[in-house]
Amino acid sequence: MPEFAQLIDGYRRFRSDNYQRFRDRWDELAHGQQPPVMIIACCDSRVDPATVFDTLPGQAFVVRNVANLVPPYDIHGRLHGVSSAIEFGVTGLGVRHIVVMGHGACGGIAAALKGGDQGRPGTSFLDQWLAIVADVRAVVLANPKITDKQLALEQAAVRQSLANLRTFPYVAEKETAAELKLHGCHFAIADGRLSVLDEAEESFRPV
Ligand SMILES: [Zn+2]
Repeated sequence: MPEFAQLIDGYRRFRSDNYQRFRDRWDELAHGQQPPVMIIACCDSRVDPATVFDTLPGQAFVVRNVANLVPPYDIHGRLHGVSSAIEFGVTGLGVRHIVVMGHGACGGIAAALKGGDQGRPGTSFLDQWLAIVADVRAVVLANPKITDKQLALEQAAVRQSLANLRTFPYVAEKETAAELKLHGCHFAIADGRLSVLDEAEESFRPV
């Protein structure tokens, strides 16, 4: 069972490399964080935003969940891990950008496409969570012109999450006031390419 020992080895490399190299930055970060960017990414082990965007310590406030989804604003009931992170990121930290990063070969999106129970009561957490994309899933499946349903839903889920972000009143207010900018992107694991969403054109373009 060497897996945890490998993490400790990695920590030791971090202590002697990254931590020393950015020592001044780490000392400063000990007094607080002021990340300019919030990133919403998938739990998938292949799409760590710190790796893909090569960020510095303290640069990005990151939330990861299955299929990088943002639920709609909902103040009633339940526990809201993602929504509380958005609230703190926007109103507490004052991030100036929120990036929703989808990715290729997303298992969460594949599960959503497959169907499951699509959020009916009494089903799994995963099925209830993936119900966030139930509507766009139906649109993608119903369009005969779309041949790559997986990619189409990965991209549609990013657009849905951006739309859901805008249902949070402080997000909408800050975006209108040009104090906050929302971005969608898609990282294709197969070739390591990042594409950025052009919302006006409704298309993802490689950068
Ligand atoms: Zn994923």
